[in-house]
Order: sequence, then C-alpha cells, then structure tokens
Amino acid sequence: MQTQSITISPDELSQRLAFFEEECRRRGLRVTEQRREIFKTVASSHSHPSAEDVFAVVREKMANVSLDTVYRTLASLADMELILRVGTAYKERFDGDLRPHAHFICSKCGEVYDIFYDKKNMMLPLREAFSFGDVRQICLQYKGSCKKCMPH
Ligand SMILES: [Zn+2]
Ligand SMILES: [Zn+2]
Repeated sequence: MQTQSITISPDELSQRLAFFEEECRRRGLRVTEQRREIFKTVASSHSHPSAEDVFAVVREKMANVSLDTVYRTLASLADMELILRVGTAYKERFDGDLRPHAHFICSKCGEVYDIFYDKKNMMLPLREAFSFGDVRQICLQYKGSCKKCMPH
C-alpha cells in the first residue's frame, strides 16, 4: 500500500470546490457558506474525517454551527453523491475524493486507507460492472487490522 499525503494540492481543492458549486447550482441548491465550509473540510484532505472531525474544524470558523447541522449537511452531501460515506456504521467517515477507489478499513482504530486502481488493470468483477453501464463509484471495503494496530 502506498503512503498518501493527508492534504491535497491547492489546484485539486479548487477543482473540487468548483465541482461542488456547479453541482449545487445545477440542482438549485443554495451554496451557503456553511455548506461550502463543510464540503471543503471533507474535500481538502485524504483523512476521511468523521462528522465529529468535520465539526471540530468548521466550529473554528463558524462558532454557531451545531454538530446536528454538520450531521445533516454531510448526509445530504452524501445523498447528492458529492462526498462518499465510508467506514463502518458506528464509525462513519466521509470522503471527498470521488475517483473510483476502494478502502481498507481498520476494524480496531477505524482508520480508512485509500486503494486506487490502475484503470487499465482493473479487476475482473469491475470490468463486469462496466458492462451494466457507467461506473462512478466503487464501494469496495477491505476490513482488517491496520499495521498500527497489529501486535509488534
Ligand atoms: Zn488500526
Ligand atoms: Zn477514500
């Protein structure tokens, strides 16, 4: 597994923000500062933050945002497929990277690791998926213990 930097490049972030604003406009959804900030927090790193993580960051900038608002906004962004839900039901995390990729999820610490596919070398089941239509997302999750949680 390749190591990944947690932050993304400014170029990539502005691309993701432009995509977000365009999608909101297309759906007639107002781009409120709060919604934008919550999206940006998820989209600006590879850390797959939880709702609580997002809340901690957004609260720094917007003192009157509530955890409940963050939960609801993340849920609606996920329903709109602007971000992805990853992790387990009780330790839900969010992903702003919409490129098809799978995840390794540690069932001990809940850490989420990205696994990217080489498009030319996709696994057979994925090729089959493409025969049904256009694949936008893959929700493949590998579960186990990550290196940090394995006994030394
Ligand atoms: Zn772990
Ligand atoms: Zn991911």
